[in-house]
Amino acid sequence: RDLAELDAQLIECRACPRLVKWRERVAREKRRAFADEEYWGRPVAGIGPADARLLIVGLAPAAHGGNRTGRMFTGDRSGDVLFSALYLAGLASQPHSVAIGDGLELFDTRITAPVHCAPPQNKPTVAERDTCSYWLHAELELLAPTVRSVVTLGGFGWQSTLRTFAKLGWTVPKPLPKFGHGVSTTLVREGAELEVFGCYHVSQQNTFTGRLTVEMVVDVLTEAARSAGI
Ligand code: SF4
Repeated sequence: RDLAELDAQLIECRACPRLVKWRERVAREKRRAFADEEYWGRPVAGIGPADARLLIVGLAPAAHGGNRTGRMFTGDRSGDVLFSALYLAGLASQPHSVAIGDGLELFDTRITAPVHCAPPQNKPTVAERDTCSYWLHAELELLAPTVRSVVTLGGFGWQSTLRTFAKLGWTVPKPLPKFGHGVSTTLVREGAELEVFGCYHVSQQNTFTGRLTVEMVVDVLTEAARSAGI
């Protein structure tokens, strides 16, 4: 199967009872500001070209962001920061992502997440992460021929990504290197190399407190793009 087929299967997934219940409840009850919108309320697939050289791995869709619009990081504050940074780094056609059909294009970049359904409090359980790793595993394998660099947003994405690459036969340092903003580690498989970068998550907890700025995200994206040959 190719990436489009994988995504088509993913959006039918109901493997995590707690998350299915939550994503559908949020979609039914809605936030008042979006009361007249139809929420997506299903797993949110990755976005961007299937032959991307740069991959971004977040955490999970936001209840009223991706779970509403059906597109990763679309329609929430985290996305405002991420797409501003992608645009400034030359990796996106516009600095915002509001809804499917808004003209957004990603250049040589794909965005995905280790958990594809919105979790309560943005906190998936270990069991949910492990169940959803089936999809990350399949996606990383399909992207492996072209991806040369990965930016993980937050420790959850960092660990999920490194663990999944290890299962796919990439040589990952042991013990797993510690997550931090700006850290990176090199993975090797059959002569191919790829670089995994850590970046603080673009969540409001980090951006409102000033722990993370758009410029800091741009710096990591620029370095990762250079490493991928973009
Ligand atoms: Fe399926 Fe992943 Fe959603 Fe669980 S989180 S229901 S595995 S898509």
